[in-house]
Amino acid sequence: MCVDCKKRVRTRVAPSPTGDPHVGTAYIALFNIAFAHVNNGDFILRIEDTDRNRYTAGSEQMIFDALKWLDLGYSEGPDIGGEYGPYRQSERFDLYGKYAKELVEKGGAYYCFCDQERLENLRERQKAMGLPPGYDGHCRSLTKEEIEEKLKAGVPYVIRLKMPYEGETIIHDRLRGDVVFENSKIDDQVLLKADGYPTYHLANIVDDHLMGITHVIRAEEWIPSTPKHIQLYKAFGWEAPEFIHMPLLRNDDRSKISKRKNPVSLNWYKEEGYLKEGLVNFLGLMGYSYGDGKEIFTLQEFKDNFNIDKVTLGGPVFDLVKLGWVNNQHMKMKDLGELTKLTIPFFVNEGYLESENVSEKEFETLKKIVEIEREGAKTLKEIAKNSRFFFVDEFSLPEVTEDMDKKERKSVERLLNSLKDEVGLKSIKLFIEKLEKWEGNEFTAEQAKDLLHSLLDDLQEGPGKIFMPLRAVLTGESKGADLYNVLYVIGKERALKRIKDTVKKYNIEI
Ligand code: GLU
Repeated sequence: MCVDCKKRVRTRVAPSPTGDPHVGTAYIALFNIAFAHVNNGDFILRIEDTDRNRYTAGSEQMIFDALKWLDLGYSEGPDIGGEYGPYRQSERFDLYGKYAKELVEKGGAYYCFCDQERLENLRERQKAMGLPPGYDGHCRSLTKEEIEEKLKAGVPYVIRLKMPYEGETIIHDRLRGDVVFENSKIDDQVLLKADGYPTYHLANIVDDHLMGITHVIRAEEWIPSTPKHIQLYKAFGWEAPEFIHMPLLRNDDRSKISKRKNPVSLNWYKEEGYLKEGLVNFLGLMGYSYGDGKEIFTLQEFKDNFNIDKVTLGGPVFDLVKLGWVNNQHMKMKDLGELTKLTIPFFVNEGYLESENVSEKEFETLKKIVEIEREGAKTLKEIAKNSRFFFVDEFSLPEVTEDMDKKERKSVERLLNSLKDEVGLKSIKLFIEKLEKWEGNEFTAEQAKDLLHSLLDDLQEGPGKIFMPLRAVLTGESKGADLYNVLYVIGKERALKRIKDTVKKYNIEI
């Protein structure tokens, strides 16, 4: 791919620090990284912080941290430097004014001295006439002398792009083919604002040019800006990069992904306990088919096999159910010790561990818990949440309450009834005897299973009748992990204590 690239391929992601790091930033970074990777190129991070109204302190650091968390690394960026730096637009401020003026000299832009009042009147008039809003070119024809005079008098001005009135601008988008715009319909975009700040359009193309960006891979929402960018490159006499517009991530009603309908902050995904591998894999499935129906892959596999032409434009729906499934696959694939380490903070958050410092022995127990619970959980947080009965030795039996739905009520009733049932009582008694006879404290999962199964043989009753009361006295819950796993994790002593405490507390006559 890219055999026709004469220059070293350089791609970038250029987020604006306006809040929490956005899932779309990671998505776009991933595809830029993969494209640079297969072309032996570079991927860089640039921070576009010229919009001071939307600037949010701390946001930039969160972007660095989130990309690092996801292993979406860059070889140049504000925090690591590089030979095309600085990589933060606020540090490149002087450049933009200089280039804006250069463009005026070249005839591609012009000074506009129209004040707010005139612009508002213009807008009103256009509205009344049913015309689209846009600048009317009033200052395009000012003479050199008129301009000099106004500048001397200190009249505030902006610099605008001089869009041609005729002809077309065509984006040759790799994924979309030619996207054609009529020049007459494109506004004379402000490039430099009255306060000397550049707009996104100017700063973005000046930097892409100076930073040697060869391929701009960004979301499709930027398509309307691209003809302006192409005109800017033309006016400067610079070669434009190749533009590739990725499909937008969408909510399930197909609207653009938004906070109201989907979590969009990368911090949220981290705090929920999604693995970086799971989230990156999921993003790699958005609008992209890896091939052979393969849905689970590592970042390295994705990068090594990447082909930009396999991006599809259908508008991928950001489906948390699918993400949960992908994440579960990665949790099951992950080294158990590593997964356990990652789950520890979530156990602390649930209050099941006092601190993240655990002894070797505790760690071994945690590993057992994680091994069991990762099978059915979507996130690390879920692993921790579902693990309550491994940690909590003192509990109360559930009670039937008003707000329970029918199903829940039934299962609680069954649990409580099993403690009055003759077989249930026998089962508890026999279980205590067997545990007391057991040498040592530990069970392997197999041994725990065998011990429980021996009750079935001895009592010649169905598993429901036998295990339900044991679940009640061991965990106080009507559902949860397999009983043998509970025994395997908590061991004989804790099991006996739990059973005896419950029997005593509820006067269960065995
Ligand atoms: N600063 C823009 C953003 O926030 C960059 C868009 C582009 O990639 O050109 O996404």
